[in-house]
Amino acid sequence: MTLRARLTAGFLAVVLGPVLLGAIFVGTTVGAVSRDRADRQLDLAASATQSAVASLCQQLRTTAEAVALQPADRRAAAAAELTGGDLVAAVRIVESGTGQALMTTGSPPLPWADCAGPPEEGPGRYGAIAARAVLPDQTGEVWAAARLDAALVERLTAAAGATVSVDPGGASPDGRRVRRLDPTEGQPLRLALSVPDTDLQDLYALLTGVVGLAGALAVLAAWRLARSTTRPLDELAQAADRVAEGDLSVRVPVRAGDEAGRLADAFNRMAHRTQSYVLALTASRDQLRRHLAVLGDTLSSTHDLDRILQVILQTAVTATSARSGAVLLLDQDSGTLVGHATAGAPGGAEVAVTVPLGDGLLGSVAAAGQARRGRVSRDGPAPHPAEPACRTYVVVPISAPGGLAVHAAPWPAPPAVRGVLALYDRLGADEFDDTDLVTLRTFAGQAGVAVDNVRTHEEAQRLSLTDPLTGLWNYRYLKESMRREVERASRFHHTLAVLALDLDRFKSVNDGYGHPAGDTVLVEFARRIRSEIREVDLAFRQGGEEFVVLLPETDARGATVLAQRLGAVVRDQPMVIAPRGAGTDGSVPIRVTTSIGIAVYPDHALTPPALLDAADDALYAAKAGGRDTYRVATAGPVPVAAAELPVRAGARIPADDLPQAGGARAPRQTRGR
Ligand code: GH3
Ligand code: MG
Ligand code: MG
Repeated sequence: MTLRARLTAGFLAVVLGPVLLGAIFVGTTVGAVSRDRADRQLDLAASATQSAVASLCQQLRTTAEAVALQPADRRAAAAAELTGGDLVAAVRIVESGTGQALMTTGSPPLPWADCAGPPEEGPGRYGAIAARAVLPDQTGEVWAAARLDAALVERLTAAAGATVSVDPGGASPDGRRVRRLDPTEGQPLRLALSVPDTDLQDLYALLTGVVGLAGALAVLAAWRLARSTTRPLDELAQAADRVAEGDLSVRVPVRAGDEAGRLADAFNRMAHRTQSYVLALTASRDQLRRHLAVLGDTLSSTHDLDRILQVILQTAVTATSARSGAVLLLDQDSGTLVGHATAGAPGGAEVAVTVPLGDGLLGSVAAAGQARRGRVSRDGPAPHPAEPACRTYVVVPISAPGGLAVHAAPWPAPPAVRGVLALYDRLGADEFDDTDLVTLRTFAGQAGVAVDNVRTHEEAQRLSLTDPLTGLWNYRYLKESMRREVERASRFHHTLAVLALDLDRFKSVNDGYGHPAGDTVLVEFARRIRSEIREVDLAFRQGGEEFVVLLPETDARGATVLAQRLGAVVRDQPMVIAPRGAGTDGSVPIRVTTSIGIAVYPDHALTPPALLDAADDALYAAKAGGRDTYRVATAGPVPVAAAELPVRAGARIPADDLPQAGGARAPRQTRGR
C-alpha cells in the first residue's frame, strides 16, 4: 500500500468518521424526539376524547332524564321535542312491564352503545351512543341517543386535536401514529386516535446528502493533500534511485519552502557536492595514475637518482594535493641535508638548498628519524632560513628499506635515515592529516628503496669498472672509454693522446721482495699517476703492471710533457716496501722506473684498437730504447672503412724535438714486456 493511499485512507477516516457519527446521532435523536412528541399529543387527545365522550353522555343522560320526568302521557311528545337537535338524534322509551318500546322517528338503528360502561362483548358496530334514565315509577327506562356518524366523529376529532375514528379494525394507516382507546367506564366506544408521524424521510435524505457531499469533499481534499505531500517524496525517491544507480547529475524540483522543499534542496546540494567530489576524485585518480605510470617507468628505466626523486615527489604532491614539496638527502661527508628535488615551489625550483642536520624543521626530522606534520605557527620547530616558506607541512624521513644501515653514521641521525621528503601547504584543507602522513610514508619508502638501489647500483658499477688493488679504472672501462673518447675526438675534431705505461723489470721486484711488496709498488705507482693527471684525464690499470692514461684534447706535445713528468715522479722518489719476512717495521725504499709509449688520435691511428696498438708499439720502442723513457708512435693511421671515421691523409711525425720511438718494430709475440 503506497504512502499516498495510506494518507488518503487516514484522512478519510478522520474526516468521514465524525460526519457519519453526527449524521446517525442527528437521525436517531430527531426520530426519538418526534415520536415522543406524537405520543404526548396522543396522550392529550385521549384524555380530551374521554372528556368529550363523557360530556356527550352527560347531555344524553340529561335529555333522557328530562323525558323520564315527564308524565307518562307527555313523554312521547317531550321525546319528539327534544330530538332532532344537533346532538340528540333519538329517544326511546321502553316499558318494562310490557316490554313495549317507543322510538322517535328517524332514530339510528340499534344497537346503541351504552354510556354507562363497557358493553358486554357485543356487536362490533353501534348505530349510536346512548344514555339511560329510569322512569320514576320504575316502570321502564328512557334512552337518549346521539347518532354515531361522521359529524360526531368530526366533533370528537375537533375536541381531541387528533384524528378520531370509531371501531377501527385492521391495520393502522401508514405514516400516522395511532393510539387505540378501548371502551371503559363512561366511554363505551372503541376508538382510535391518530396523529401524523413526523416525516423523517426528508431529514434522512438530507443527512445522507450531507454525508455524501462531505465524503466527496473529503476524498477530494485527501487526494489533493496526499498528492501534494507525497509528490515531492515520490520525486525524491526516484532521484535517490537514480543516484543509487550511479547517476549523480539528477536533481529534484524544489516546490516550496516547507519540509519537503528543504529536503529536496538538501538532496540537490548533497548530489551536487557528491558529484563535484567524485569528479575531483576521478580527475585526481587519473592524474595519480599517470604519475604512477611515470614513476614506474622512471624507476625501471633509469638510475638517475635526482630524476627518480623528482618523479616520486611530483606523485606525492599530486596524491596529497600539496602546494609544493622538496626532497633532501643526507650528505654523509658534510652532515647536511642537500636538496635533490623540488615541486611546485613558487618562482621555480630552488633545489640547491642545504640544511644542517638537526637544524630547522627538516633537519630535526632527519636527526630524530620521526615524521612530523602540523602548522608552522603552532607546532614548531621553526624552519631553517634555507627551507621553503610554508604554513602547514608534513615531513617524513626517507629511510633505507628495512632500516638498513649502509655505513656507520657519523652524524647524530638514525643510521638508516637517508634524507627527508617534505610537502607544504595542503590545498583544499586546513592542514595535512594522518592519511596524508601514511601516503607520504609510502612514497618516502619508495624514495628510500630508490636511493639505496641507485647507490648500490653506482657502487656495483664502480666495482665492476675499477681495479680493486689500485682503485684505477679497469680494462673493461678502458675499452669503453677508448670507444667513447675516440668518437668524441672524431666528432669535435679534437686530438686524443694515449699513454701506455709498463714498469721496468718489475719481475725482479716480485722476485726480490715478494708479490705483496710488488702490489705495494703497483698501488703507489697508481697513486703517483693519479696525482699527476688532470681531472678530465682517465687512468687505467690494463693488467699486471701495465697502465694506460687517456688524455682528451691533448696532442703529442702535451702527452710528451706528461710522460716526462710521470717518468720523473716514479723515478725520483723511491717507493717504500715491506720485503718478504721483514716484519712490520722492516720497510725498505726501492727505486722503480717506467717506460711509456705515446700514441695520438688521429695522428697515429683512427680506431681505438689501433690507437692502443700504436701506444703499445711506442712502449715497446721505449723498452727497446733502454727503458725509463718514452717514445711517440711513428706509424701513420691505417685507413679504416670510409663510413666509420674520417681518415687524415698520411702519417704525421710530431713536429717537436722530443725523442722519437726508435728501433725496428719486432713482432708482438716476441716483445719482451
Ligand atoms: P720489462 O717490463 O722491463 O721488460 O720487465 P718485467 O720484469 O717488468 O717484465 P714483464 O712486464 O713481462 O713482467 C711482468 C711481471 O709483472 C710478471 C709478474 O710477476 C708481475 N706481475 C704482474 N701482475 C702482478 C701483480 O698483480 N702483482 C705483482 N706483485 N706482480 C705482478
Ligand atoms: Mg714490465
Ligand atoms: Mg709488463
